[in-house]
Amino acid sequence: MSTIEYPRLDVIAVGAHPDDVEIACGGTLAKLARQGYRVGIIDLTDGEPTPASPGPEVRLAEAKAAAEVLGVEVRVQLDMPNRRLFDSFEARVALAKEFRKYRPRLVLGFGEKTPLASPDHWQAMQITDAAIFYARLTKWDEYFDHLPVHTISAHLYYTLGFATLQLPLAAGHLVVDIGDTLDTKLQAVRCYATQFPKAKEFIFERVRAAALHDGVAAGYDAGELFASTRTLGTRDLVHFLFGQAPGDEPRKPEVR
Ligand SMILES: [Zn+2]
Repeated sequence: MSTIEYPRLDVIAVGAHPDDVEIACGGTLAKLARQGYRVGIIDLTDGEPTPASPGPEVRLAEAKAAAEVLGVEVRVQLDMPNRRLFDSFEARVALAKEFRKYRPRLVLGFGEKTPLASPDHWQAMQITDAAIFYARLTKWDEYFDHLPVHTISAHLYYTLGFATLQLPLAAGHLVVDIGDTLDTKLQAVRCYATQFPKAKEFIFERVRAAALHDGVAAGYDAGELFASTRTLGTRDLVHFLFGQAPGDEPRKPEVR
């Protein structure tokens, strides 16, 4: 199979259920899209059944609306089962096939267990970790519909924001400034009317509070927290710290 029919994406965010990535990193996805990067979302399951939703069609429509709000170019829903998602060879291959099709440079995925919430999230992390590896394996074409191999260059873990992201050994925290896309993120989450009815209005306060907390830690109005799966490095410290090239006028310091 060739990949010509699939657009090459810069970034893919993988969630277990539609609404996971909106809550975890919707502001970052909206920001990347605004900056001109090509962004995709892969939901491993349709997220159904859930208590207040009439069914998968409605949830799918919500997911489409949220993707539009964020400016996401491609949203793929795989047919793995909600509530009984398990890391398996088949699940790894199914996700790796999508990576081979869309060839992202960067993958954003679950980075921790979510105690008291769905165990699917932890399974999604295992599946994503493995699929990133499977995407580049040669001499295994028969499992991947003969899609060409693809090497993903970077993998960041996200958090749903209600607990501290545990760092893997030798990893690094980073915060993406979402000061100008926090409202877009909240609007995308609101697309899931079946998941967040009036009685769950507090969720929006929590998502906003987590964004303010993470943002302030890095000197921004709002932010989203990620952990790199390896130690972060730079070849240009000034550019890394200030986003500037040699010869650029130093920006006025921002003190808040
Ligand atoms: Zn979820």
